[in-house]
Amino acid sequence: MKIAVVGTGYVGLVTGVSLSEIGHTVMCVDVDESKVARMQAGVSPIYEPGLSEMMESNIEAGRLSFTTEHRDAFVDADAIYIAVGTPQKEDGTADLRFIESVAGNIAEHLTGYAVVVTKSTVPVGTNDYIQSYIAKYTDVSFDVVSNPEFLREGSAVYDTFNGDRVVIGSDRAEAASVVEKINRPFGLPVFKTDIRSAEMIKYASNAFLATKISFVNEVATLCEKLGANVEDVAKGMGQDKRIGKKFLNAGIGYGGSCFPKDTSALVQISGEAGHDFTLLKAVMEVNERQQRLLVEKAKERFGSLRGMTIAILGLSFKANTDDMREAASVVLAEELVLAGAHVVAYDPIAIENAKQVLPEAVDYAGSTEAALDGADATFVVTDWDEIKELDTGTFKERLTKPVVFDGRNCFDLDDMREAGVEYYSVGRPGIG
Ligand code: NAD
Repeated sequence: MKIAVVGTGYVGLVTGVSLSEIGHTVMCVDVDESKVARMQAGVSPIYEPGLSEMMESNIEAGRLSFTTEHRDAFVDADAIYIAVGTPQKEDGTADLRFIESVAGNIAEHLTGYAVVVTKSTVPVGTNDYIQSYIAKYTDVSFDVVSNPEFLREGSAVYDTFNGDRVVIGSDRAEAASVVEKINRPFGLPVFKTDIRSAEMIKYASNAFLATKISFVNEVATLCEKLGANVEDVAKGMGQDKRIGKKFLNAGIGYGGSCFPKDTSALVQISGEAGHDFTLLKAVMEVNERQQRLLVEKAKERFGSLRGMTIAILGLSFKANTDDMREAASVVLAEELVLAGAHVVAYDPIAIENAKQVLPEAVDYAGSTEAALDGADATFVVTDWDEIKELDTGTFKERLTKPVVFDGRNCFDLDDMREAGVEYYSVGRPGIG
Protein backbone atom coordinates (compact mmCIF):
# COMPACT_ATOMS: atom_id res chain seq x y z
CA MET A 1 0.00 0.00 0.00
CA LYS A 2 1.01 3.62 -0.28
CA ILE A 3 1.51 5.21 3.11
CA ALA A 4 2.35 8.71 4.33
CA VAL A 5 3.91 9.10 7.78
CA VAL A 6 3.72 12.58 9.31
CA GLY A 7 6.46 13.28 11.87
CA THR A 8 9.80 11.49 11.82
CA GLY A 9 10.71 11.33 15.50
CA TYR A 10 11.40 8.12 17.40
CA VAL A 11 7.94 6.76 16.54
CA GLY A 12 7.38 8.17 13.05
CA LEU A 13 10.74 7.27 11.59
CA VAL A 14 10.77 3.76 13.05
CA THR A 15 7.18 3.24 11.85
CA GLY A 16 7.94 4.55 8.36
CA VAL A 17 11.09 2.51 7.96
CA SER A 18 9.43 -0.65 9.30
CA LEU A 19 6.37 -0.26 7.05
CA SER A 20 8.69 0.05 4.05
CA GLU A 21 10.60 -3.01 5.23
CA ILE A 22 7.41 -5.11 5.06
CA GLY A 23 6.80 -3.98 1.49
CA HIS A 24 4.73 -0.79 1.61
CA THR A 25 5.72 2.34 -0.28
CA VAL A 26 6.26 4.98 2.36
CA MET A 27 6.83 8.70 2.19
CA CYS A 28 7.70 10.37 5.49
CA VAL A 29 7.04 14.06 5.92
CA ASP A 30 8.48 16.37 8.55
CA VAL A 31 8.49 20.15 8.98
CA ASP A 32 12.11 20.09 10.17
CA GLU A 33 14.04 20.81 6.96
CA SER A 34 17.48 19.90 8.26
CA LYS A 35 16.18 16.58 9.56
CA VAL A 36 14.57 15.81 6.20
CA ALA A 37 17.77 16.73 4.35
CA ARG A 38 19.74 14.30 6.52
CA MET A 39 17.21 11.53 5.98
CA GLN A 40 17.16 12.14 2.23
CA ALA A 41 20.92 11.59 2.36
CA GLY A 42 20.27 8.26 4.11
CA VAL A 43 21.31 9.42 7.59
CA SER A 44 19.09 8.66 10.58
CA PRO A 45 18.63 11.71 12.83
CA ILE A 46 18.19 9.46 15.88
CA TYR A 47 20.18 6.64 17.41
CA GLU A 48 18.15 3.43 17.43
CA PRO A 49 19.75 0.00 17.03
CA GLY A 50 19.17 -1.50 13.56
CA LEU A 51 17.40 1.58 12.18
CA SER A 52 20.11 3.06 9.93
CA GLU A 53 20.74 -0.19 8.05
CA MET A 54 17.03 -0.81 7.44
CA MET A 55 16.55 2.80 6.38
CA GLU A 56 19.37 2.63 3.84
CA SER A 57 18.23 -0.61 2.24
CA ASN A 58 14.63 0.58 1.82
CA ILE A 59 15.68 3.92 0.33
CA GLU A 60 17.80 1.95 -2.11
CA ALA A 61 14.88 -0.35 -2.93
CA GLY A 62 12.77 2.73 -3.75
CA ARG A 63 10.18 2.02 -1.04
CA LEU A 64 11.14 4.82 1.34
CA SER A 65 11.46 8.55 0.78
CA PHE A 66 11.34 11.80 2.74
CA THR A 67 9.86 15.21 2.08
CA THR A 68 8.92 18.49 3.75
CA GLU A 69 5.80 18.76 1.55
CA HIS A 70 2.65 17.22 2.99
CA ARG A 71 1.00 17.46 -0.39
CA ASP A 72 3.62 15.16 -1.98
CA ALA A 73 3.28 12.58 0.77
CA PHE A 74 -0.53 12.53 0.68
CA VAL A 75 -0.99 12.05 -3.08
CA ASP A 76 -2.75 8.68 -3.59
CA ALA A 77 -1.95 7.61 -0.03
CA ASP A 78 -4.09 4.73 1.26
CA ALA A 79 -3.21 5.69 4.81
CA ILE A 80 -1.79 8.76 6.53
CA TYR A 81 -0.06 8.03 9.82
CA ILE A 82 0.08 10.81 12.41
CA ALA A 83 3.25 10.43 14.52
CA VAL A 84 3.95 13.95 15.74
CA GLY A 85 4.78 14.79 19.34
CA THR A 86 2.15 15.38 22.03
CA PRO A 87 4.35 16.98 24.69
CA GLN A 88 3.31 18.04 28.15
CA LYS A 89 2.01 21.54 28.74
CA GLU A 90 2.87 23.53 31.89
CA ASP A 91 -0.41 22.43 33.50
CA GLY A 92 0.34 18.73 32.83
CA THR A 93 -2.16 18.31 30.00
CA ALA A 94 -1.16 17.04 26.54
CA ASP A 95 -0.24 19.74 24.05
CA LEU A 96 -2.22 18.98 20.88
CA ARG A 97 -0.74 21.84 18.84
CA PHE A 98 1.14 19.51 16.47
CA ILE A 99 -1.84 17.19 16.09
CA GLU A 100 -4.03 20.14 15.12
CA SER A 101 -1.46 21.33 12.63
CA VAL A 102 -1.32 17.89 10.97
CA ALA A 103 -5.12 17.74 10.90
CA GLY A 104 -4.95 21.09 9.08
CA ASN A 105 -2.35 19.69 6.66
CA ILE A 106 -4.58 16.70 5.93
CA ALA A 107 -7.66 18.83 5.37
CA GLU A 108 -5.71 21.04 2.98
CA HIS A 109 -4.01 18.38 0.91
CA LEU A 110 -6.30 15.33 0.93
CA THR A 111 -7.28 14.52 -2.65
CA GLY A 112 -8.91 11.11 -2.29
CA TYR A 113 -10.15 8.70 0.40
CA ALA A 114 -7.50 7.75 2.99
CA VAL A 115 -7.47 6.23 6.44
CA VAL A 116 -5.92 8.59 8.98
CA VAL A 117 -4.05 6.46 11.51
CA THR A 118 -3.15 8.11 14.82
CA LYS A 119 0.06 6.67 16.29
CA SER A 120 0.69 9.63 18.59
CA THR A 121 -0.44 9.20 22.18
CA VAL A 122 -3.53 11.37 22.50
CA PRO A 123 -6.11 11.94 25.26
CA VAL A 124 -9.37 10.05 25.05
CA GLY A 125 -11.66 11.83 22.62
CA THR A 126 -8.86 13.34 20.50
CA ASN A 127 -9.46 11.08 17.50
CA ASP A 128 -13.08 12.20 17.44
CA TYR A 129 -11.78 15.76 17.52
CA ILE A 130 -9.34 15.02 14.65
CA GLN A 131 -12.24 13.55 12.65
CA SER A 132 -14.43 16.62 13.11
CA TYR A 133 -11.53 19.06 12.66
CA ILE A 134 -10.56 17.63 9.26
CA ALA A 135 -14.17 17.24 8.16
CA LYS A 136 -14.76 20.92 8.84
CA TYR A 137 -12.30 21.90 6.11
CA THR A 138 -12.65 19.23 3.41
CA ASP A 139 -15.35 17.37 1.52
CA VAL A 140 -13.02 14.48 0.68
CA SER A 141 -14.01 11.36 2.61
CA PHE A 142 -11.68 9.76 5.15
CA ASP A 143 -11.80 7.71 8.36
CA VAL A 144 -9.78 8.07 11.54
CA VAL A 145 -8.32 5.03 13.30
CA SER A 146 -6.49 4.98 16.63
CA ASN A 147 -3.40 2.76 16.48
CA PRO A 148 -1.37 3.57 19.62
CA GLU A 149 2.32 2.79 19.65
CA PHE A 150 4.00 0.62 22.28
CA LEU A 151 7.62 0.55 21.08
CA ARG A 152 10.40 1.22 23.57
CA GLU A 153 13.22 3.55 22.63
CA GLY A 154 16.46 1.62 22.50
CA SER A 155 14.73 -1.43 21.04
CA ALA A 156 12.19 0.31 18.82
CA VAL A 157 12.89 -1.64 15.63
CA TYR A 158 12.88 -4.96 17.47
CA ASP A 159 9.63 -4.02 19.22
CA THR A 160 7.92 -3.08 15.96
CA PHE A 161 8.56 -6.56 14.57
CA ASN A 162 8.06 -8.39 17.88
CA GLY A 163 5.42 -6.39 19.75
CA ASP A 164 2.89 -8.07 22.02
CA ARG A 165 -0.09 -6.66 20.13
CA VAL A 166 -1.30 -4.17 17.57
CA VAL A 167 -4.22 -2.18 18.97
CA ILE A 168 -6.65 -0.89 16.38
CA GLY A 169 -9.41 1.41 17.57
CA SER A 170 -12.11 2.32 15.12
CA ASP A 171 -15.83 2.81 14.89
CA ARG A 172 -15.71 1.84 11.17
CA ALA A 173 -14.98 -1.83 10.42
CA GLU A 174 -13.69 -1.12 6.89
CA ALA A 175 -11.15 1.42 8.14
CA ALA A 176 -9.98 -0.96 10.87
CA SER A 177 -9.52 -3.67 8.22
CA VAL A 178 -7.25 -1.40 6.18
CA VAL A 179 -4.97 -0.87 9.20
CA GLU A 180 -5.08 -4.59 9.99
CA LYS A 181 -4.08 -5.38 6.41
CA ILE A 182 -1.21 -2.89 6.51
CA ASN A 183 0.11 -4.56 9.66
CA ARG A 184 -0.47 -8.19 8.61
CA PRO A 185 3.12 -8.85 7.45
CA PHE A 186 4.39 -8.09 10.98
CA GLY A 187 2.50 -11.22 12.05
CA LEU A 188 1.55 -9.79 15.46
CA PRO A 189 -1.66 -10.37 17.42
CA VAL A 190 -4.27 -7.73 16.62
CA PHE A 191 -6.68 -6.35 19.19
CA LYS A 192 -9.59 -4.42 17.74
CA THR A 193 -11.73 -2.13 19.81
CA ASP A 194 -13.53 1.20 19.66
CA ILE A 195 -11.57 4.45 19.30
CA ARG A 196 -11.87 5.67 22.89
CA SER A 197 -10.87 2.34 24.39
CA ALA A 198 -7.81 2.23 22.13
CA GLU A 199 -6.79 5.71 23.28
CA MET A 200 -7.29 4.62 26.89
CA ILE A 201 -5.30 1.38 26.45
CA LYS A 202 -2.18 3.42 25.70
CA TYR A 203 -2.48 5.70 28.75
CA ALA A 204 -3.52 2.90 31.06
CA SER A 205 -0.60 0.72 29.91
CA ASN A 206 2.00 3.42 30.50
CA ALA A 207 0.44 4.39 33.81
CA PHE A 208 0.47 0.76 34.94
CA LEU A 209 4.13 0.30 34.01
CA ALA A 210 5.04 3.54 35.80
CA THR A 211 3.14 2.26 38.83
CA LYS A 212 5.18 -0.95 38.82
CA ILE A 213 8.40 1.07 38.78
CA SER A 214 7.38 3.41 41.58
CA PHE A 215 6.05 0.47 43.58
CA VAL A 216 9.32 -1.43 43.46
CA ASN A 217 11.19 1.80 44.25
CA GLU A 218 9.11 2.22 47.40
CA VAL A 219 9.89 -1.38 48.29
CA ALA A 220 13.59 -0.60 47.67
CA THR A 221 13.48 2.29 50.14
CA LEU A 222 11.95 -0.03 52.72
CA CYS A 223 14.54 -2.71 51.97
CA GLU A 224 17.33 -0.23 52.72
CA LYS A 225 15.72 0.71 56.02
CA LEU A 226 15.02 -2.87 57.06
CA GLY A 227 18.18 -4.61 55.84
CA ALA A 228 16.64 -6.58 52.94
CA ASN A 229 17.92 -6.74 49.35
CA VAL A 230 15.43 -5.49 46.75
CA GLU A 231 17.00 -7.56 43.99
CA ASP A 232 16.14 -10.79 45.77
CA VAL A 233 12.77 -9.41 46.84
CA ALA A 234 11.91 -8.52 43.21
CA LYS A 235 13.11 -11.93 42.02
CA GLY A 236 10.95 -13.68 44.58
CA MET A 237 7.96 -11.51 43.72
CA GLY A 238 8.44 -11.90 39.97
CA GLN A 239 8.30 -15.68 40.15
CA ASP A 240 4.60 -15.25 40.83
CA LYS A 241 3.14 -15.21 37.33
CA ARG A 242 0.40 -12.82 38.41
CA ILE A 243 3.12 -10.25 39.16
CA GLY A 244 5.64 -11.09 36.44
CA LYS A 245 9.39 -10.53 36.36
CA LYS A 246 9.50 -7.44 34.18
CA PHE A 247 9.56 -3.83 35.31
CA LEU A 248 10.63 -4.74 38.81
CA ASN A 249 14.10 -3.20 38.68
CA ALA A 250 14.63 -0.70 41.46
CA GLY A 251 16.51 2.42 40.43
CA ILE A 252 16.34 6.17 40.04
CA GLY A 253 12.90 6.14 38.51
CA TYR A 254 11.44 6.40 35.06
CA GLY A 255 12.20 9.18 32.57
CA GLY A 256 11.94 9.61 28.83
CA SER A 257 9.41 11.17 26.57
CA CYS A 258 6.46 8.96 27.54
CA PHE A 259 5.95 7.86 31.15
CA PRO A 260 6.32 11.30 32.77
CA LYS A 261 4.06 13.08 30.30
CA ASP A 262 1.53 10.27 29.92
CA THR A 263 1.06 9.77 33.67
CA SER A 264 0.68 13.49 34.08
CA ALA A 265 -1.81 13.69 31.19
CA LEU A 266 -3.86 10.82 32.60
CA VAL A 267 -4.10 12.55 35.98
CA GLN A 268 -5.39 15.65 34.16
CA ILE A 269 -7.77 13.64 31.93
CA SER A 270 -9.06 11.96 35.04
CA GLY A 271 -9.53 15.27 36.86
CA GLU A 272 -11.44 16.70 33.92
CA ALA A 273 -13.68 13.63 33.99
CA GLY A 274 -14.41 14.31 37.67
CA HIS A 275 -12.20 11.61 39.15
CA ASP A 276 -9.19 12.10 41.41
CA PHE A 277 -6.60 9.48 40.33
CA THR A 278 -4.82 9.46 43.70
CA LEU A 279 -2.81 6.30 43.00
CA LEU A 280 -1.21 7.77 39.89
CA LYS A 281 -0.44 11.04 41.65
CA ALA A 282 1.49 9.06 44.27
CA VAL A 283 3.33 7.18 41.51
CA MET A 284 4.50 10.50 40.07
CA GLU A 285 5.49 11.87 43.48
CA VAL A 286 7.59 8.77 44.23
CA ASN A 287 9.30 9.13 40.86
CA GLU A 288 10.24 12.76 41.43
CA ARG A 289 11.81 11.83 44.76
CA GLN A 290 13.56 8.85 43.21
CA GLN A 291 15.22 10.93 40.47
CA ARG A 292 17.04 12.96 43.18
CA LEU A 293 18.03 9.89 45.18
CA LEU A 294 21.74 9.80 44.33
CA VAL A 295 22.26 13.44 45.35
CA GLU A 296 20.48 12.75 48.63
CA LYS A 297 22.70 9.74 49.25
CA ALA A 298 25.83 11.72 48.40
CA LYS A 299 24.84 14.55 50.75
CA GLU A 300 24.20 12.01 53.48
CA ARG A 301 27.65 10.52 52.93
CA PHE A 302 29.73 13.68 52.44
CA GLY A 303 27.70 16.44 54.08
CA SER A 304 28.51 19.28 51.72
CA LEU A 305 29.27 18.55 48.05
CA ARG A 306 30.81 22.01 47.50
CA GLY A 307 34.11 21.85 45.66
CA MET A 308 33.82 18.10 44.96
CA THR A 309 34.19 16.69 41.45
CA ILE A 310 31.48 14.16 40.63
CA ALA A 311 31.55 12.00 37.49
CA ILE A 312 28.17 11.13 35.98
CA LEU A 313 28.28 7.91 33.96
CA GLY A 314 25.41 7.68 31.49
CA LEU A 315 23.17 10.61 30.55
CA SER A 316 20.35 9.34 28.30
CA PHE A 317 17.12 8.41 30.07
CA LYS A 318 17.83 4.75 29.40
CA ALA A 319 20.45 2.65 27.64
CA ASN A 320 20.64 2.33 23.83
CA THR A 321 19.07 5.68 23.05
CA ASP A 322 20.32 9.24 22.64
CA ASP A 323 17.05 10.64 24.01
CA MET A 324 17.56 13.06 26.90
CA ARG A 325 13.90 13.93 27.47
CA GLU A 326 13.09 13.77 31.21
CA ALA A 327 16.37 11.98 31.92
CA ALA A 328 17.31 11.66 35.61
CA SER A 329 20.78 12.92 34.68
CA VAL A 330 19.31 16.38 34.08
CA VAL A 331 17.82 16.55 37.58
CA LEU A 332 21.00 15.15 39.14
CA ALA A 333 23.37 17.47 37.26
CA GLU A 334 21.25 20.50 38.18
CA GLU A 335 21.19 19.49 41.85
CA LEU A 336 24.93 18.84 41.90
CA VAL A 337 25.78 22.17 40.28
CA LEU A 338 23.41 23.90 42.71
CA ALA A 339 25.21 22.18 45.61
CA GLY A 340 28.53 23.61 44.37
CA ALA A 341 29.97 20.41 42.86
CA HIS A 342 31.92 20.25 39.61
CA VAL A 343 30.29 17.73 37.25
CA VAL A 344 32.11 15.72 34.59
CA ALA A 345 29.70 13.73 32.44
CA TYR A 346 30.06 10.85 30.02
CA ASP A 347 27.66 8.99 27.72
CA PRO A 348 28.51 6.75 24.76
CA ILE A 349 25.92 8.37 22.44
CA ALA A 350 23.90 11.16 24.06
CA ILE A 351 26.52 13.87 24.78
CA GLU A 352 25.49 16.15 21.92
CA ASN A 353 21.82 16.03 22.98
CA ALA A 354 22.86 16.36 26.65
CA LYS A 355 24.67 19.61 25.94
CA GLN A 356 21.31 21.14 25.01
CA VAL A 357 19.70 20.36 28.37
CA LEU A 358 22.36 19.98 31.10
CA PRO A 359 23.62 23.05 32.98
CA GLU A 360 26.38 24.94 31.16
CA ALA A 361 28.80 24.35 34.04
CA VAL A 362 28.94 20.62 33.23
CA ASP A 363 32.12 19.34 31.56
CA TYR A 364 32.15 16.32 29.27
CA ALA A 365 34.61 13.44 29.02
CA GLY A 366 35.30 11.18 26.03
CA SER A 367 35.28 7.90 27.97
CA THR A 368 34.24 6.44 31.31
CA GLU A 369 37.89 6.35 32.38
CA ALA A 370 38.43 10.01 31.48
CA ALA A 371 35.29 10.97 33.42
CA LEU A 372 36.47 9.06 36.49
CA ASP A 373 40.06 10.33 36.38
CA GLY A 374 40.56 12.56 39.40
CA ALA A 375 36.85 12.70 40.34
CA ASP A 376 35.99 12.38 44.03
CA ALA A 377 32.95 10.14 43.50
CA THR A 378 30.75 8.89 40.70
CA PHE A 379 27.05 8.58 39.96
CA VAL A 380 26.04 5.67 37.71
CA VAL A 381 22.91 6.94 35.97
CA THR A 382 22.34 4.91 32.77
CA ASP A 383 23.00 1.19 32.47
CA TRP A 384 24.76 1.14 29.11
CA ASP A 385 26.58 -2.17 28.57
CA GLU A 386 29.99 -0.49 28.54
CA ILE A 387 29.23 1.03 31.94
CA LYS A 388 27.81 -2.18 33.44
CA GLU A 389 30.83 -4.08 32.16
CA LEU A 390 33.40 -1.72 33.72
CA ASP A 391 36.03 -3.54 35.70
CA THR A 392 35.25 -2.68 39.33
CA GLY A 393 38.98 -2.06 39.90
CA THR A 394 38.68 0.98 37.60
CA PHE A 395 36.84 2.91 40.31
CA LYS A 396 39.66 2.30 42.78
CA GLU A 397 42.33 3.22 40.24
CA ARG A 398 40.76 6.37 38.83
CA LEU A 399 38.71 8.07 41.56
CA THR A 400 40.47 10.06 44.29
CA LYS A 401 38.10 8.35 46.75
CA PRO A 402 36.49 5.19 45.39
CA VAL A 403 32.91 6.13 46.26
CA VAL A 404 30.23 4.97 43.81
CA PHE A 405 26.53 5.87 43.94
CA ASP A 406 24.79 3.51 41.54
CA GLY A 407 21.28 4.43 40.42
CA ARG A 408 20.84 1.29 38.30
CA ASN A 409 22.23 -1.49 40.50
CA CYS A 410 24.79 -2.31 37.80
CA PHE A 411 27.41 -3.95 39.97
CA ASP A 412 27.63 -7.03 42.12
CA LEU A 413 27.94 -6.25 45.83
CA ASP A 414 30.68 -8.85 46.40
CA ASP A 415 32.71 -7.59 43.41
CA MET A 416 32.60 -4.03 44.73
CA ARG A 417 33.51 -5.20 48.25
CA GLU A 418 36.46 -7.18 46.90
CA ALA A 419 37.60 -4.22 44.78
CA GLY A 420 37.62 -2.04 47.91
CA VAL A 421 35.00 0.35 46.57
CA GLU A 422 32.61 2.24 48.84
CA TYR A 423 29.32 1.48 47.13
CA TYR A 424 25.75 2.69 47.51
CA SER A 425 23.05 1.35 45.21
CA VAL A 426 19.24 1.27 45.37
CA GLY A 427 17.46 -1.00 47.83
CA ARG A 428 20.57 -3.07 48.56
CA PRO A 429 22.90 -2.94 51.55
CA GLY A 430 25.55 -0.20 51.27
CA ILE A 431 29.24 -1.09 51.36
CA GLY A 432 30.89 1.48 53.63
P1 NAD B 1 9.35 13.41 18.44
O1 NAD B 1 9.21 14.70 19.17
O2 NAD B 1 10.63 12.66 18.52
O3 NAD B 1 9.04 13.65 16.88
C1 NAD B 1 7.95 14.38 16.38
C2 NAD B 1 8.30 14.86 14.98
O4 NAD B 1 7.13 15.46 14.39
C3 NAD B 1 9.39 15.93 14.91
O5 NAD B 1 10.41 15.51 14.02
C4 NAD B 1 8.66 17.19 14.41
O6 NAD B 1 9.49 18.02 13.59
C5 NAD B 1 7.54 16.57 13.59
N1 NAD B 1 6.38 17.45 13.32
C6 NAD B 1 5.71 18.28 14.16
N2 NAD B 1 4.67 18.87 13.54
C7 NAD B 1 4.66 18.39 12.25
C8 NAD B 1 3.82 18.59 11.12
N3 NAD B 1 2.75 19.39 11.15
N4 NAD B 1 4.12 17.92 9.98
C9 NAD B 1 5.18 17.09 9.92
N5 NAD B 1 5.99 16.85 10.96
C10 NAD B 1 5.74 17.49 12.12
O7 NAD B 1 8.14 12.51 18.93
P2 NAD B 1 8.15 10.92 19.29
O8 NAD B 1 8.96 10.66 20.50
O9 NAD B 1 8.38 10.17 18.06
O10 NAD B 1 6.62 10.75 19.73
C11 NAD B 1 5.55 10.88 18.82
C12 NAD B 1 4.28 10.44 19.49
O11 NAD B 1 4.34 9.02 19.78
C13 NAD B 1 3.97 11.11 20.82
O12 NAD B 1 2.60 11.27 20.94
C14 NAD B 1 4.46 10.11 21.84
O13 NAD B 1 3.79 10.21 23.06
C15 NAD B 1 4.12 8.80 21.16
N6 NAD B 1 4.98 7.67 21.58
C16 NAD B 1 6.31 7.86 21.74
C17 NAD B 1 7.12 6.77 22.09
C18 NAD B 1 8.60 6.95 22.30
O14 NAD B 1 9.22 6.05 22.85
N7 NAD B 1 9.19 8.06 21.88
C19 NAD B 1 6.54 5.50 22.27
C20 NAD B 1 5.16 5.36 22.08
C21 NAD B 1 4.39 6.45 21.73
